[in-house]
Amino acid sequence: MRRPPIELVRGELRVAGSGLWLDARRRAPCAFVSHAHGDHIGRHDRTIATAATLALARHRLGEKARGEALPAGYRTPFGLGDLTLELFPAGHVLGSAQLLVKNGVALGYTGDLCLEPTLTAEPAEVMECDVLVMESTFGLPRYVFPPKEEVLGGVRRFVDDALSDGVTPVLLGYALGKAQEILKYLSGLGYACRAHPAVHSLNRVYEALGVPLPNVRALGAEGPSRGEVVVAPPHLARSAAVQRIPRRRTAVLTGWAVEGGRFRWRGVDAAFPLSDHADFPSLLRYARATGARKVFTLHGYAEELAGALRREGIRAEPLRENQQLELLV
Ligand SMILES: [Zn+2]
Repeated sequence: MRRPPIELVRGELRVAGSGLWLDARRRAPCAFVSHAHGDHIGRHDRTIATAATLALARHRLGEKARGEALPAGYRTPFGLGDLTLELFPAGHVLGSAQLLVKNGVALGYTGDLCLEPTLTAEPAEVMECDVLVMESTFGLPRYVFPPKEEVLGGVRRFVDDALSDGVTPVLLGYALGKAQEILKYLSGLGYACRAHPAVHSLNRVYEALGVPLPNVRALGAEGPSRGEVVVAPPHLARSAAVQRIPRRRTAVLTGWAVEGGRFRWRGVDAAFPLSDHADFPSLLRYARATGARKVFTLHGYAEELAGALRREGIRAEPLRENQQLELLV
């Protein structure tokens, strides 16, 4: 009998018996940061992450950035005390990584995971491990995303229809990741795009990291010209920069749009299920592909996903504080 190799301490994840925290929000002596979304970054004494995540996190934290950065490449094992660490692409946003920790048991941590190929993030890879901690944001059977080409085709038709009606299409997507993905798609097709300044500053970091976004200019006080597409973060949909666009038609890009009638986003004309997370069938498939003997689920529908995994014959449970002693093998 022994404890799981991972523990949840006051809402934060730690590799058991070590000083290594995973995606900690509170300041930690040493933390692995899987990607640069706001709910995963923090101001730590030492931060282990990919160079892209470190650059994006530094940009987001600005003046508040501190501590020592320990950049790590994908598939390059390195030592940290008694542990051996290795990063694998997670396919979620540029620089996103899964972490494999070896110390007798091979413990895998997915962070946020997307298994569909993307235009702007490194494609996810299967991380073989004994014990897997996986995200379960869309861990319900009803969350099945349509093929990505279909979703992107729908966005393109929305844009074309708006432009042919002489109105400005405004696409709302999270500033880090989703916005660059749709801009890459549309700019690649030759559409002239305008990015809200909150998106544009992150575009600059993407470009510096080797993801060019041509045909994209910052949205200024003058507003978009006729024929241009605007991309802005959802939380700034009611900002002056967007509200002053006189004739506009708005669509939000989010995996939750797969809810159909259940999904409500005030003031938008359309919603498209463009997600940077894995859907339910992909989560099941991924858990099986890792070969893990035990799976802990985390975030979103953790209880439900663990139940679905158990029905598939995989030992699984949600990760909880003070997990009971249990037999791992
Ligand atoms: Zn994320």
